[in-house]
Amino acid sequence: MTKVIKVNEEIKEKMIDFYKDKLREKIPPYAIFQAKDGDTVITMYTSGKVMFQGNNADIDANMWGAMGSEINSIQKEIDSEFAKDEIDFNSVPTIGSDEVGTGDYFGPIVVASAYVSSKNIPFLINLGVRDSKNLRDDAILKIVPKMIKKIPYEATILSNKEYNNRHSVDVNMNKIKAVMHNKVLNKMVYDNKFEYDYIVVDQFASEKLYFKYLKDVNVVVKDIVFLTKAENKCLSVACASMISRYIFLKEFDKLSDKIKTNLPKGAGEMIDKIGKKLIEEYGEEILENIAKLNFKNTIRIKEED
Ligand code: MN
Repeated sequence: MTKVIKVNEEIKEKMIDFYKDKLREKIPPYAIFQAKDGDTVITMYTSGKVMFQGNNADIDANMWGAMGSEINSIQKEIDSEFAKDEIDFNSVPTIGSDEVGTGDYFGPIVVASAYVSSKNIPFLINLGVRDSKNLRDDAILKIVPKMIKKIPYEATILSNKEYNNRHSVDVNMNKIKAVMHNKVLNKMVYDNKFEYDYIVVDQFASEKLYFKYLKDVNVVVKDIVFLTKAENKCLSVACASMISRYIFLKEFDKLSDKIKTNLPKGAGEMIDKIGKKLIEEYGEEILENIAKLNFKNTIRIKEED
């Protein structure tokens, strides 16, 4: 949970004094201090905005907010929008994650998370890392093997069969994504001891929904910054995006080889044509192993011409 309040000079000084023994060594850009109190991370920015992150963020935020409310009526929850605008995620060490395959009828879903240290930022810029959606597949296949020599990452693949088993009325695509992101982030955060300033996820659902999807999951990575088009704003997300795409392409090739058909990507008309051919050759059961059955393509493919 992230909560943001604005404080006046008086409260600012009180807070600086209150948290002086709980300061973190590193201070994020534009911040006066960052402290950790219990489960809550408190970041005070020069603008007078204070961000509280963690399970009980609202309790801490409300305490300070109430204290200042007589003189300062500006207290609002703004879904950490301000932080997203003020932080240059490309200039600090981050863990980022992104997924691929969710718009493709054929092939698995892949989620990857990558870590970019300050030291590796110039390396990635030299490598020409940017939004993988703008990079052609042949460029991805060339760049990623070089990238992963230096960039640590974790990835998880959800096969079509597993996807089709999991996908039901109450397990939707976004919940599947949230569980997969959380899985790779757990490995990045708890199995490794990376030094990072932020965890950034390419946003596919609101922060509230994301954590709601994970309510039955044992260990949930918190303190995430959700950014739209994050692959353009944060190098670790750009890496995660390209690595997941790379893995997806490899898996896609394996599938194509297995059924001796060049499977098309996406979910357009071409898909239906190929799908029809495939069930003629292998029977309807083939789709379960190579496609996401809940897509509308399935109905069209199974339709008699
Ligand atoms: Mn994405």
